Amino acid sequence: MFPQHIIARKRDGHALTAPEIQAFVQGATDGSWADYQLSALLMAIFLRGMTAEETACYTDAMMRSGVVADLSGVPGVKVDKHSTGGVGDKISILLAPMVVACGVPVPMISGRGLGHSGGTLDKLESIPGFRTDLSLAAYCAQVAKIGCALIGQTRDLAPADKKLYALRDVTATVESIPLICGSILSKKLAEGIDALVLDVKFGAGAFMKSEAEARRLAVELVRVGQAAGKQVRAVLTAMEQPLGRAVGNALEVAESIACLRGEGPADVMEVTTTLGAHMLLLGGVAADEADARAQLQRSISSGAALAKFREIVVAQGGDAAVVDHPERLPQAEQQIAYSSQKSGYVQRVDAMGVALAALRLGAGRVKAEDTINPAVGVSHLVKVGERVLLGASLAVIHGSTEADVAAARTLLEQAIVIGDDAPPTLTLIGEVIA
Ligand code: URA
Repeated sequence: MFPQHIIARKRDGHALTAPEIQAFVQGATDGSWADYQLSALLMAIFLRGMTAEETACYTDAMMRSGVVADLSGVPGVKVDKHSTGGVGDKISILLAPMVVACGVPVPMISGRGLGHSGGTLDKLESIPGFRTDLSLAAYCAQVAKIGCALIGQTRDLAPADKKLYALRDVTATVESIPLICGSILSKKLAEGIDALVLDVKFGAGAFMKSEAEARRLAVELVRVGQAAGKQVRAVLTAMEQPLGRAVGNALEVAESIACLRGEGPADVMEVTTTLGAHMLLLGGVAADEADARAQLQRSISSGAALAKFREIVVAQGGDAAVVDHPERLPQAEQQIAYSSQKSGYVQRVDAMGVALAALRLGAGRVKAEDTINPAVGVSHLVKVGERVLLGASLAVIHGSTEADVAAARTLLEQAIVIGDDAPPTLTLIGEVIA
């Protein structure tokens, strides 16, 4: 089976057979296909699409390109959450301990930030000493012991995706539903989970700009995940403005700790509770959504979720004192308020604009090999609909130099719009696909 024949069949609009798809994924894993052949087939898939059967077969081959974690020895239904990525999306950091505190094990393998969207691993690593590079064996042992591990992708987990994602990134083939499904689900299925809740975001700061596009992706992710024998649900959530009031790694950990103390912003708590409720339902520990929400709220009010977070930080080598003293997290040299030039209502806080300001400050990566500054970003952001007075602070900019702060301020001036009238209320939670 020559690569060029497989490429030609997809180029001409045919559905690939299982052996052809397996040969492609094998070629990506062992290097027997050249990058130009892999890239040509990725573009042919991007243009021609894949049938439901092809996508399921591709996802399965990607998952099997590496090891699959075995958590069958851990009692209970193991449930993870995956977000398609947004701005200020620190949900995993509070969601995991809340759900574990309610009795559902959460094995979670997360990613790093790239481009405008942040990554849970970078955020957690802003806690001094916190290690996300556990081996798969250590990850399984920690899930068995404390119900949760928050780690990064290991080299032996879905290695074909590492290769293919890097090629997609530079060949304009990222925005393909079958390729996204194979990429996301292969990694999640290899974690050893029984069930998965997907947070599929739509809006200015999301990968999918419209709710209709996000819905198409969600339907396909749910269908392929269920075909692989897992319980899968997707919730569509809005990403027009950043989630919460902080964007930047240590700043988002501090906001997550505030949430675990019951002092978090309403939107972060609502998205977390909605996703968590579905996790408890799939985990079989809640009678209905109202019961699940009540359990999650109790995990906060009783301090159980905060205690579980502390346990995870200790287990992964982090400085647990951060939980009581978030000021021990890295702090930027410059912390400057950005003030409003007029009185009025906050009409818009453009998630992409705020993300670009955080990126300019050094909170994210333009290229995968870039290093990030954990301390920088934006905090105390206003939210759409709030009334502000002339001279009131709209955000605090955390940067290393005055020049960085000035550049971020220019970007925030474009991102935050103040007008005379109260804007319509933004939708936060959309449809649930099950
Ligand atoms: N995230 C992934 O892991 N893969 C994709 O293809 C898109 C988003």
